[in-house]
Amino acid sequence: MLWARLKLFLQRNWLWFAIGLLMIVAIVVPVWYMQGMEESVRRYIVGINVASLPWGILQTLVFVGFLYLLQYGGGFAMFKKSKVKMGSASVRFTDVIGLMEAKREAWEVVQLIKDRAVLKKVGGKILHGMLMVGPPGCGKTMLAKAIATEAGVPFLSTAGSEFVEIFVGVGASRVRKLFKQARQYAQAYGACIIFIDELEVVGKARVFMDAFGGSSESNSTLNQLLVEMDGLTDVDANIVVIGAMNAQEMVLDPALLRPGRFDRKITVNRPNLQERREIFEYYARNIALDPGVDLARLARKAVYKTPAEIENILKEAALIAVRDRRERVTYKDVSSAIERIELGVAHRLNLTPREREMTAFHEAGHLLVTYLTHPTNDVFKVSIVQRGGSLGVVHSVPREELYTSDVNTLKAHIRVSLAGYVAERLKYGVSTTGVSSDFAKAMAIAHDMVWIYGMGGDGLIGDFNQIPAGGLNQPAQLSEAFKEKLNNATQVLLHECVKEVEQVLKTEFHILERFSKELLAREELDYDEIVQIFTEYGKPPKPLPAENPEPPRYFPPPAGH
Ligand code: ZN
Repeated sequence: MLWARLKLFLQRNWLWFAIGLLMIVAIVVPVWYMQGMEESVRRYIVGINVASLPWGILQTLVFVGFLYLLQYGGGFAMFKKSKVKMGSASVRFTDVIGLMEAKREAWEVVQLIKDRAVLKKVGGKILHGMLMVGPPGCGKTMLAKAIATEAGVPFLSTAGSEFVEIFVGVGASRVRKLFKQARQYAQAYGACIIFIDELEVVGKARVFMDAFGGSSESNSTLNQLLVEMDGLTDVDANIVVIGAMNAQEMVLDPALLRPGRFDRKITVNRPNLQERREIFEYYARNIALDPGVDLARLARKAVYKTPAEIENILKEAALIAVRDRRERVTYKDVSSAIERIELGVAHRLNLTPREREMTAFHEAGHLLVTYLTHPTNDVFKVSIVQRGGSLGVVHSVPREELYTSDVNTLKAHIRVSLAGYVAERLKYGVSTTGVSSDFAKAMAIAHDMVWIYGMGGDGLIGDFNQIPAGGLNQPAQLSEAFKEKLNNATQVLLHECVKEVEQVLKTEFHILERFSKELLAREELDYDEIVQIFTEYGKPPKPLPAENPEPPRYFPPPAGH
């Protein structure tokens, strides 16, 4: 083992040794040679050399500068070294917040790496490759590092984009180098983990019918990856390749998913409510947070947010507090940070009083219908401050993560979208162009309900997008009359929703007027202020759904495991 490590050290640093040796030879040999010469000749030789030194240095600089240009300025990508980072093995499982499910599966992988010898004796399947799939910013890299740390093996990290070059063969040779390096580490340390981020860049399905060679480069890179992974079964090196990707694994070449390659998968999902709260608590440690900030409520508000986004929100909130010369970050700062990130920085337009009033009515309409009729969404904020192209906004989020929607939820989405339009018409008899994005949203949902989900009534059931639209020589299989029938059903659905919204807003018109007045006076209303006003009219907030029972924790693992 010691010899292997020394060998690895020499392999990685041989260039420095060579340069050092060359320098010594370059000094010792001339001195030794000149010993037998006359004093005047020695002086002459040394003098000439010293005089030509600046010129020599200048030449060297020009040469190095030229090489540098070749490497970074032009397209000489083959000279560029791929960036493979040797990870610092310091992330432990307890440092990865949330991700309970993923961590449980990752722990199994750690055991597989550690117990390889036992596994071999028993004849079990040796792990060579593993996929991590999930949205960006959810901690895939952290988890991979934690696996390496807990298993006590070196960690080589690179990204799929590092293998993409226009020159044929460059990507493939980089893959070869990466695996060679990993084998050296594995010999020295017993095992090695290769982490490839953005695997979909290299691993997307190969194209074979390519006449111009345009895709042959990515094909050769992928082929090399396959060859190297198959090679792992032959050699006795304990190397595990972890590939991370944002898209689903369907985009990958099927060859990559075969047994012996990336045949194990861990899904790294967005955090749930409990995990979001832990993440808020974790990042809030580095921020001077006002003691009054309710992290549990923020965790509810940040539904579907990833850990990276939560970190970003808190940093942005700190920025806002600093700008206003305050020493503590308040709930309002965090709330405006979320708006700023989602909708852009506030920029005040010069609206006429009538435009402002109409905006207030429009937003109050959205607010009322969400609060009073939406089965799954809560209103967190309403504002008529202009941001990034929108005149106002109602910030509403689901009260808990939902992975499916039923017809009631979808209709509620449509009602909420149409509420601004209805409110404008109820108050002024006319509507503005401000409804266009609302209509787009409502129309998209209604269209999908009729065309895809079979929720349109009229006995229309099925996903009508599946029926071929017909081509050059094929007649369309969906008749024009039938399309018209579907589109009519969409209109009927929208009109139904408008009627329902009218019903609600007419009955509660006094609350609508009250909110528009409050908005004109205060511009923004937060959750507490909204709830307070509704409660005045005898409409307290809906009770929060019960939290899911906390899943069992697996870490730290029980003793003796
Ligand atoms: Zn609107």
